[in-house]
Amino acid sequence: EQLANRIAAGEVVERPASVVKELAENAIDAGATEIDIAVEEGGLTFIRVRDNGSGIEADDLERAFQRHATSKIRTDRDLFRIATLGFRGEALPSIAAVSRVSCLSAADDSGLGRKIVLEGGHVRSIEQAASPKGTEIVVRDLFFNTPARLKYMKTIQTELGHISDCVNRLALSHPGIAFTLTHNGNPLLRTTGGGDRLQVIAAIYGAAAARQMLRAAADHPDYRLEGWLSKPELTRANRSGITTIVNGRYIRSFAIQQAILEAYHTLLPTGRFPLVVLEVGMHPGLLDVNVHPAKQEVRFSKEAELKELVESALRRALGRTAH
Ligand code: ADP
Ligand code: MG
Repeated sequence: EQLANRIAAGEVVERPASVVKELAENAIDAGATEIDIAVEEGGLTFIRVRDNGSGIEADDLERAFQRHATSKIRTDRDLFRIATLGFRGEALPSIAAVSRVSCLSAADDSGLGRKIVLEGGHVRSIEQAASPKGTEIVVRDLFFNTPARLKYMKTIQTELGHISDCVNRLALSHPGIAFTLTHNGNPLLRTTGGGDRLQVIAAIYGAAAARQMLRAAADHPDYRLEGWLSKPELTRANRSGITTIVNGRYIRSFAIQQAILEAYHTLLPTGRFPLVVLEVGMHPGLLDVNVHPAKQEVRFSKEAELKELVESALRRALGRTAH
């Protein structure tokens, strides 16, 4: 049972950034408007995610750490969530199986909540505790009981880079949520939660970059598209500045990325890439759900049409005529 848990955990928890992602997504699902993330040593020794969301009812706290304990109903409207997030009801038990976790949560404003402490998946204590409404989860000593996995961890800087990328993407996909990220006490990101994506771009890439952005938007019977793209003068050394969001979630799409680069074709020097944050809204039925969930990849049933729409919207924003 314990071994099975640890093996299953390996599929969900690949590295510290996966923990941050799962915990922050739970906070988003809980309707949080503020999410504070603190990590130490690249997240290997300490990860804390605090939110002001709905909280977990005292009676549900222990169950939340048991396998397949999802409280999230699967309806047609959830198709997309299932497609991209995949591991329903597995995150908390998986994280708990390979670390020392404490979770303090309150589902109301009484000031009183409940705290559970687990070690390697075993419940060590569960008791009443003072807590504001919301949830705070602390994950210490990730992979302490799976030394083989621990050995695969890269440098602190590399693990922190993955965490930072992950939080940046979440902040860009949710401009209405105020995020903070600190590493060893040093602030790395702070967004205001005002809903303005350009402000999030400024917080991540700097005010100077944000001033170089052009707005793109398009409406179409099947798709709604809106975002920001850099003027051709502002380029980057790699594709990491291209963020695509579908129905509110960060995704990777080779097709959309191709269409973006096509719009810039010949405008950028070889080996240089733009800074682009693009959100596409569509009916979940237009998404192919049969793609491996862990990779955040999706396919679209009307891909050619979508590519055409993306490319033409970006060309317009860049002041280029249709091709
Ligand atoms: P899932 O998110 O797929 O439902 P998880 O293992 O991530 O599974 O979480 C289990 C359950 O714990 C969730 O369904 C939710 O009810 C509860 N939960 C976890 N994190 C939070 C949070 N930050 N705020 C409120 N509820 C939470
Ligand atoms: Mg979850």
